[in-house]
Formats: sequence, C-alpha cells, structure tokens
Amino acid sequence: MNEMSTISLAQHDYSDAAKKALSRKPSLFINNEWVSSSADKNLAVIDPSSGKEISRIVDATDSDVDKAVAAARAAFDDGRWTGLPPIAREQMIHALADLVEKHAGELAELESIDNGKPVGMSSTVDIPAAVGMLHYMAGWATKLGADSISPMSTPNGAFHSYVRREPVGVAGLIVPWNFPLLMAVLKVAPAMAAGCTVVLKPAEQTSLTALRLADLIAEAGFPAGVINVITGNGHTAGDRLVRHRDVDKIAFTGSTEVGKIINRTATDTLKRVTLELGGKSPVIVLPDVDVAQVAPGAAGAIFFNAGQVCVAGSRLYAHSSIFDKVVEGIAETAAFWAPRPSLDPAAHMGPLVSEEQYTRVMDYIDQGKKAGASVAMGGDCPTSDGYYVNPTVLVDVKPDMSVVREEIFGPVVCAQRFDDLDEVAKQANDSCFGLAASVWTKDVSAMHQMCAKLKAGTVWGNCHGVIDPALPFGGYKESGLGREQGRQGVEAYTELKSVIIQL
Ligand code: NAD
Repeated sequence: MNEMSTISLAQHDYSDAAKKALSRKPSLFINNEWVSSSADKNLAVIDPSSGKEISRIVDATDSDVDKAVAAARAAFDDGRWTGLPPIAREQMIHALADLVEKHAGELAELESIDNGKPVGMSSTVDIPAAVGMLHYMAGWATKLGADSISPMSTPNGAFHSYVRREPVGVAGLIVPWNFPLLMAVLKVAPAMAAGCTVVLKPAEQTSLTALRLADLIAEAGFPAGVINVITGNGHTAGDRLVRHRDVDKIAFTGSTEVGKIINRTATDTLKRVTLELGGKSPVIVLPDVDVAQVAPGAAGAIFFNAGQVCVAGSRLYAHSSIFDKVVEGIAETAAFWAPRPSLDPAAHMGPLVSEEQYTRVMDYIDQGKKAGASVAMGGDCPTSDGYYVNPTVLVDVKPDMSVVREEIFGPVVCAQRFDDLDEVAKQANDSCFGLAASVWTKDVSAMHQMCAKLKAGTVWGNCHGVIDPALPFGGYKESGLGREQGRQGVEAYTELKSVIIQL
C-alpha cells in the first residue's frame, strides 16, 4: 500500500438540502408533474465515496417512456412552446439559468454525492458551466434563421422563395454519468432554443441533479410537457426512446459501443441522430517546453474528474529528450491528485463513479501489466468501501496494447516516447477515436503544423480540456457524429424547409 492510502476516506455529512433531495419518492417528471411509474421497479443510488445506497430512482417501463413521449409530442404539436415568440423562449431559458445559479451550492453537492467528483470541482466547473451553457444557448432562440436564395431556373421575379429553419420536433436526450447536469443542459438548452420539446434520460448511475433540474424547470415557468425527465436503465428505457415513432431526434452522449447501437436502432425510423462518444486523446509534448510547467498540465489532462472525461489525455507522447523528466514531473503530482471522498473540501480527485467502473479500470491496469507495461506511478487503489483508484502512469507500453488502444475512462495514462513530428502525428492518429488532442510547444510553426495534422474534433495548444459553449464540439471517426455547442449545436435540433411560391 502506498503513502496516499493513509488518507481518511470517510465521506462527510450531507447537508439538509441534499438529504431532502435524496428522500424524494422515486418518480418521473412528466407534464410538469411528479408521477409514479406504471410498475414498482426502482434502481439504487450509490454514493461512490462510501459504496453505500443513499436513495432510489424509478427504472422507467415502456409505458412510462410512452407517457413522457406523448407529453412531449402534444406539447410540440399544439405549439405551446414553438408558437411562443422567440424572445419569450429566450427569457425562459435565461430564467432557468438563473435558478440553477441560485441553487448552485445544493446542485454541486448533489452532483458530488452522486458521481463522486470533488465538490470543489462541481462548484467551480460543472454547475457554472451548466449556467453558462443555458445563457449562451438562450440567445440563439432569437437569432436562428436561414438563408434566402433565388431559384436558378425560374424567371427573375416570377417566383418568391425562401428557406425556413424549423425545430425538428420531439428530441430524446440520453446522457452519461461523468458530468451529469452539464451533459443534460448541453442538450436541453439548444433543444429549447430551437423550439423542440424533449424527454431527457440521465444515466442510471447519476440521475439526482437532472431530477432537481426538473423542479427548477417547473419553477422557471416552462409549459407542461416541454421538458420531461425520466430515469431508468439504458437498454430498456433508453432503447424505448430511441425506437419510439413519435421521437424525431436522438441526441446521445456516451460510449462508442452504445452510440453504434443507438445509430443502428434509430435507422429504422430514420431519426436525426447526433452522437458524442468516446475518445483516447493524445497529449503531445515537444522538446522545447518548460517541463516544470507542462508536467502538471499533462497530469491534469488525465487526472481531472478521475480520468472520466471523454477528452481525457490518456495517451501521452513526450519527446525522447525530455520523456523521463515529464514522467517524473507527473509522478510529483501524486499527492495533489490522491483520491479523497467527494465532499472533502481538500479533494482534487474523488472515487470512480461505480463499482463497475472501478473493476473495469483496475482490470485494464492488470491487462497493461500482463502485456509488459511498467507502472511509473500508482497502479493500485487505497483500501476503502468506495471506488477509489490512485492516479496511474504506465510506461514501456506498445501501440497494440489494449491500454493504449481502448478507452479506459479512469485515471490512467500511457506514456510513450517519440523523436520526430511526423512520426508522432501518425502515432496519435493511429486510433479509431478522434475526439481531441493537445500539443505543447513554444514553437508556433510546429504548433500549427501539428494542429493541421491531427485527426480530432478539437485540438488544444499548451492547454487541455478547455471547452467553450461558443465553439463546436464533436468527434472525428468513431468519436461521434455531428457537433454540439455553437451555432451548429442548435442547428442540429432543426430542419430546413424550402418554400417556392409562383407569383
Ligand atoms: P454509456 O454509453 O454506457 O451510457 C450513456 C447513456 O446511454 C446512459 O444514459 C445509458 O443509460 C444510456 N444507454 C445505455 N445503453 C443504451 C441503449 N441500448 N439504448 C439507449 N440508451 C442506452 O456511457 P457511460 O458509461 O454513461 O459514459 C461514459 C462514456 O461516455 C465514455 O465512453 C465517454 O467517452 C463518453 N462521453 C463522451 C462525451 C463526448 O462529448 N464525446 C462526453 C462525455 C462522455
């Protein structure tokens, strides 16, 4: 056992507001009302810091999902949302943002209890980012439009034509557990701005903040049925949503494996689909850097949120001349990133989200070691009932090892050497994923050359993981389909209609 394991891993007490949210009777938010499930099927809510059951949520049945979809369908078809002046929709989304901000402390605590992420992080990253996303997207409600263009084949003045941008209809929003509220808002906000109505299904491991958001949606004054929140398992409730004929679009964030299943299933009804999927993002460190500055950055790229980040910098490529120093520099951050309970104010890294995820990550570390990788840092876990894994660096890895090729989704980075820029670009692109990458150098030309060469939806220079609502975000290759955020993120919830009128 290493030194980090001596930290006390007892979870802190919950606040009264959190206790109230945890004591909510398992129910679904449909038509602005809390309703019971058609069956008595519940799922346990576990605090990953302690491994203890702390609440229960509904595992929605087919008929629950049908009810939520019917509510969203009716709300879309009768125009109670789409028919409002865009400024009214914009103001309501801003009002929801204000309510999320007002309840930021409570939401941050709930997110940390449910997901395991440090409360210092959820209160400075997750919740403020959700507020920012809502405000940013609210503005699009009054700014969306479409081009007007003259037909090429009709006499000038004989026809009037224009293009309308219309909401796609009912959107099913399926989100993962790593940034639960932020991922939910990342989809709800553009859908609302575009004029869609929605059924939101948070991940079964982390539904608490989505349920609390539902309270705030009602308080903000959204008409009944515009936003519905159902909880439950993916292969049942999620699948029903994807198959449903009255759902026009699925916006999904999650694993590549499930994204492929969803895309196949959605083909039966040719639903519009956007997919934000997994990654294995390279962090490329050129020889000219100041290692003392870059090593903590490379550590943050993988250990932030315990590596449970789609853009986690899980493949480190450092130039041979500085490789050892970079790895040593990362190892020096071990005490900073030592996992602690989520409500410990000193925590920078918490436990993993679930026992399943813990087992998966420890199994990958084992696979790496068996395949010949050496452990330069961590590789083990503290003794606890929670799901803690120590920050880990694997060296002596080969490009064909599972730890290098597959998404581990934990605090594990595989470090490799390179000598030449073309060689490292090739290695970095040798992946089925293409979500993100970062390049660290003071050499401006090398920076831009690498940015052009890397096959990824986002490339960062001298930083990693900076995500902004105004910039399109998404993946190349098997990391996704379409883009979220920015204008493109709202337009993904719309259809274009050409209107041609003979005068
Ligand atoms: P997951 O794919 O297991 O689950 C995601 C969601 O899909 C959950 O709500 C789940 O209930 C639902 N689901 C599962 N099976 C389903 C099915 N057959 N039909 C419909 N819905 C189904 O992913 P996860 O483990 O919750 O999240 C981790 C993954 O998410 C990682 O791969 C990560 O890279 C990815 N992710 C990607 C982004 C991005 O923006 N690209 C962001 C965050 C997370």
